[in-house]
Formats: sequence, structure tokens, C-alpha cells
Amino acid sequence: MASITLKNISKQFGDDLVIDDLNLHIKDGSFTVFVGPSGCGKSTTLRMIAGLEEQTNGEIWIDDKRVDQLPPGKRDIAMVFQNYALYPTMTVKGNIEFGLKNKKVPKAEREALIHDIAGIVGLTPYLSKKPQVLSGGQRQRVALARAMVKKPKVFVFDEPLSNLDAKLRGQMRTELIQLHKRLGTTFVYVTHDQTEAMSMGDEIVILNKGLIQQMDAPMNIYQKPANVFSAQFIGTPA
Ligand code: ADP
Ligand code: MG
Repeated sequence: MASITLKNISKQFGDDLVIDDLNLHIKDGSFTVFVGPSGCGKSTTLRMIAGLEEQTNGEIWIDDKRVDQLPPGKRDIAMVFQNYALYPTMTVKGNIEFGLKNKKVPKAEREALIHDIAGIVGLTPYLSKKPQVLSGGQRQRVALARAMVKKPKVFVFDEPLSNLDAKLRGQMRTELIQLHKRLGTTFVYVTHDQTEAMSMGDEIVILNKGLIQQMDAPMNIYQKPANVFSAQFIGTPA
């Protein structure tokens, strides 16, 4: 488990300031959701936390360790993307195992871990299948399992359910909430969907044009939206 602190984080692409002096603390073990309209800077923020994008200014801390100069592999963060980025020629098991082989985890340990995690995400019957024969939801579970075997301190998710149909999306929301409870690990989750954000997060960060509009528990945001943007975005009267 781990907390994350962003201090005076900004990001410029050319002349475009897309994140402007972001300061926030993500609590250890929380399910924190960034929500806001398309282009507001959600993915950029997540990518900076994971180390896939370098901040223009500011500091990123995980617990009491400054990480903003560390490469992604050294931050103890696993990222789950919207497009699952699975290896098409490898089986489900091969896809899950890949990261472990790089870490030189012994075979018996790998087998036990894959067995456990496949059970948790419901992939046990599919371990010898190739990704192309799986449904969207099953592929998303492989991506999740691949992140889980690394036992990271933090999971970050960038709109992981947006390619799924409505029914499956609902089911996966519930599964992710349960997984978070079970693991107790910090989840940082990005979505443009207000309903998804408010139903999944225990801490919501409403972002607009690279600025935090409000950060609070969902119930507090419903009851006391901080400004007109928050109120309208969440759909409560101002
Ligand atoms: P969101 O995920 O909230 O939809 P993004 O973080 O992807 O938003 O993008 C925020 C802004 O930064 C947008 O205006 C986008 O066009 C711009 N942007 C994102 N990535 C790049 C990039 N690699 N180069 C230039 N501009 C970018
Ligand atoms: Mg995005």
C-alpha cells in the first residue's frame, strides 16, 4: 500500500499548459477517481504518476520517497489501459507470466501466483487460450491479472472499461470495487463518466482544464458541490 503526493505539478506540451500547479494527496489504500471532460488532463496526470510522461515542474512522492525522476519500472506502480495491449501470439498464461519472468521469479512460485490470480479474476478456464478468442471483458481481466502478478503498491487505471458494452461495464465496476477491497492496495482510476466515478471511488477528484475543481468523498460532493462546474458536472443543483 502507498500514498501518493503531487506537489506543484505542471505539464506543458509546447506552449500548451495542460496541467497547472496540481497539488493533491492520494490516501494510502484509497480508491481515488479522477473525473472530468475529455481533454481536461486526466490521462496526462495518470501518466506522470506512472512515469510514462515527464512533468514540466513539480514533485511526485510515493509515501516518503520522491519518485518523479525514476523510470516507470522503479515506481512500484502497475498500469491497466483501455486498450489491453496483450501479446497476441502468447496464451493468456504467457501474457500473465511475462512480467514475472523478467523479474526472475522461480517457476514454482510463478505457477502458484498465476493459479491464485487467475482464480480471483475468473480466468482459470482460459489460461491456455490466445487473446483473440476472448471477449472484451476477458481481455480486460488478463490485463488486470498481468498487473496483479507484479504485486505493485499502486494500481492506475485509464478508462479501463470504456471499450466494453454497458452490461459488462456494470459487472466489471462491481468486480473492481471488490478487488480493491480484497487487495487493500491504492487504486487511482481515470474516467470521463460521472456515474462510474461516483459509484466506484471513495475519493473523487473533479478536474477541468488541468485544474482541480473539487476533491472529496462522493457523498460530500453530492451534498456540497464546491462550485458551479462541480455541480453541473455531477448533475446536482448548484
Ligand atoms: P483526458 O485524458 O482528460 O481526456 P489528456 O490528459 O489526454 O486528457 O490531454 C490533456 C490535453 O493535453 C489535451 O488538450 C491533449 O490534446 C493534450 N495532450 C495530451 N498528450 C499530448 C501529447 N503527447 N502532445 C501534445 N498534446 C497532448
Ligand atoms: Mg484520457
